[in-house]
Amino acid sequence: AVGTDTLVDWISGFRDAVTEKREWLTELDSAIGDADHGANMARGMSAVGEKLAAGTPATVDELLKTVGMTLVSSVGGASGPLYGTFFLRMGMTAGAVTELDAAGLASALRAGLEGIVARGKAEAGDKTMFDAMAPAVDALDAAIADGADLSTAARRAADAAAAGRDATEPLVARKGRASYLGERSAGHLDPGAASTAILFDTLATAIS
Ligand code: ADP
Ligand code: MG
Ligand code: MG
Repeated sequence: AVGTDTLVDWISGFRDAVTEKREWLTELDSAIGDADHGANMARGMSAVGEKLAAGTPATVDELLKTVGMTLVSSVGGASGPLYGTFFLRMGMTAGAVTELDAAGLASALRAGLEGIVARGKAEAGDKTMFDAMAPAVDALDAAIADGADLSTAARRAADAAAAGRDATEPLVARKGRASYLGERSAGHLDPGAASTAILFDTLATAIS
């Protein structure tokens, strides 16, 4: 099972990774957006880190709600409310528990994905974070249904997120700032899909 300690490892691993990859994320966003995705993610996650350093909530829902609220309030760009909603919905679905089993983690992540869709209306192939996240959540479900253990399932989800990120390269963006470029958005990875692949990679690492 995944306890709050493991979730905190995930969140701090994600903060460290987006901070380390900040320039790359910004470079991706400079090609098809406004060159702030790395700064947005690093700022938001470092605010989350500070909040959690002041005291870690005891339950999964309180922990994820804190992460989501902090992202919504500290990131101005599209990614703040989208990732914020992801964590808020995850927390609401997890409930006031101290750990999640495989099915609980999978349904919380699915709810997070649905929150992003409710907020941003992205569909498959729109060249957004959805294109990395939806295959990751699907792969997690499939691996669990196959009887894989949680660490194997989480690694398969991370691999699917990375493949989803790579598959955004040829796409023409239909949501977000990149859509203003029309056909010129093709030929570049989507920055939000790149940060989502990092999100699932750090989840797999925290669970391993
Ligand atoms: P902004 O575009 O406001 O500067 P960011 O650069 O931080 O915000 O984030 C951009 C990323 O947000 C995009 O690469 C894309 O993955 C994601 N995004 C933008 N709009 C949507 C949407 N409607 N649904 C899902 N994801 C979106
Ligand atoms: Mg941007
Ligand atoms: Mg911006």
